[in-house]
Amino acid sequence: TDTDVDLDAEARRIDREHVFHSWSAQAHLDLPVIAGGQGTTVWDHAGNRMLDFASQLVNVNIGHQHPAVVKAIQEQAAQLATIGPATSNLTRGRAAEKILAKAPEGFEKVFFTNGGADAVENAIRMARLHTGRDTVLSTYRSYHGNTGAAIVATGDWRRMPNQYARGHVHFFGPYLYRSEFWATTPEEESERALHHLERVIQSEGPQTIAALLLESVPGTAGILVPPPGYLAGVRALADTYDLVLILDEVMAGFGRTGRWFAFQGYDVVPDLITFAKGVNSGYVPVGGVIMSEPIAKTFDERVFPGGLTYSGHPLAAASIIGALDAMESEGIVDNARRVGAEAIGPGLKELQARHPLIGETRGEGVFWAMELVRDRETREPVGVDVIGRLKKELVARGLIPFTAENRIHVVPPCVVTPEEVAQAMSIYDEALGVVEADAL
Ligand code: PLP
Repeated sequence: TDTDVDLDAEARRIDREHVFHSWSAQAHLDLPVIAGGQGTTVWDHAGNRMLDFASQLVNVNIGHQHPAVVKAIQEQAAQLATIGPATSNLTRGRAAEKILAKAPEGFEKVFFTNGGADAVENAIRMARLHTGRDTVLSTYRSYHGNTGAAIVATGDWRRMPNQYARGHVHFFGPYLYRSEFWATTPEEESERALHHLERVIQSEGPQTIAALLLESVPGTAGILVPPPGYLAGVRALADTYDLVLILDEVMAGFGRTGRWFAFQGYDVVPDLITFAKGVNSGYVPVGGVIMSEPIAKTFDERVFPGGLTYSGHPLAAASIIGALDAMESEGIVDNARRVGAEAIGPGLKELQARHPLIGETRGEGVFWAMELVRDRETREPVGVDVIGRLKKELVARGLIPFTAENRIHVVPPCVVTPEEVAQAMSIYDEALGVVEADAL
């Protein structure tokens, strides 16, 4: 109706006038209006439907408006909408228990934060206090969040204008398609990346290093599925040099890879796990650190110098319980694994066979990337012009894409169906065809 169309225009206008947006020059933004959603689909006020193949910010793992999560929040709001952190609360305790039930043995406590960045921030603090050492080693191809230490631990360009925290050193992780190590096989890449990391540890001085911080599967950096033996090798280095291993599962965790935690596919157990996003699919902002027993014990008698007004907020806690219960009883993590293996992976391979623009496809579960190149031989990445054009063509055909540098990340909710994947593949196919004609 006319009224509905007006609401979309009003939402656009008021957003442009009064909302200051993340990571953007503000003057030329033109952001889509989203008024409602269900599962993998969202729509504007006029009812124009879009397939959400970005899961918003790769966080809506359970899909939009899952009734069990909405109900859990509503019931908790009716009973007790907020409470301070220095209290005992049944919902909060049960949320911690549910999270720990998914973690490997030996994890004891959960420290709740407001999101992913402050989860990383606090994991770094815990590692520093536990070891009495300062330096944190993390990879250049990473994103760990937009706060003091987390943004400096981040490897990508967003670190550079924000480098106000000290004690951070970066290294290269494995990335066979653009190997820093002249490797030609996954095994070579793994071995050489581990050698490089060991040399960085030795050169920095292990006695100065608190922690190794890595995304189990680097996400925003390109869905860089680790080669065989790499994460187990990182664990071995952490043991040899007595360093805390922090695995950042903010994006990869809670179903995205088709497992509860991404690292569970790689024969490695960290000392600290950071989480956010998928734990409750962002229905209420929340994140946290899952602490192994030795690190938790450090703070039995010693004060932990950190906290947040909303640590363990009851609406967040209720939404975690609702989300994890539903994911379990509806087999949602298994769905992500199956749809990834049977529909997304093969669908992307087929696209790659048809489109020279696609240099590589990689991923698992509902966590995939298409890497776009000007030339398959040189692997020269396409520019922002090509990605911008592609984004437009995808949106015009009813798909919300996730793009980063020269890549499209195929990251739908874990509840995505093979039919929705087929629909998305034909949209990618058409849009690539249109753009390819000019790009190559
Ligand atoms: N860590 C990883 C791996 C992430 O992907 C992100 C966000 O994308 C963060 C941390 C930061 O999380 P948040 O934006 O909730 O602070």
